[in-house]
Amino acid sequence: MVPEALLMGCANHLHQIDATKKRWARQRGAGLKDTPTWDDLDSLFRNGPPKCPGGGTYTIGAVGELPECSIAEHNEYFKAHLEAEPAPAATK
Ligand SMILES: [Zn+2]
Repeated sequence: MVPEALLMGCANHLHQIDATKKRWARQRGAGLKDTPTWDDLDSLFRNGPPKCPGGGTYTIGAVGELPECSIAEHNEYFKAHLEAEPAPAATK
């Protein structure tokens, strides 16, 4: 059983990655099928790229896709809560 706080922490990071990826796309004029690397996004994260609190590995994915955690339960939680908790609006 995965603690809820851990799931929330990971989902929060995935939100952050998604928002940052979209910000990168806007800055670069990148399309939905373009995929940024961690190097591309590094300077856009205020405190460096987020790490999964449960030890999972994040996959950024293409701009038009959601980022993923290597731990399936984390992804399920993230996707289940997407509607209820929209990602915070990215600042420029
Ligand atoms: Zn995770």
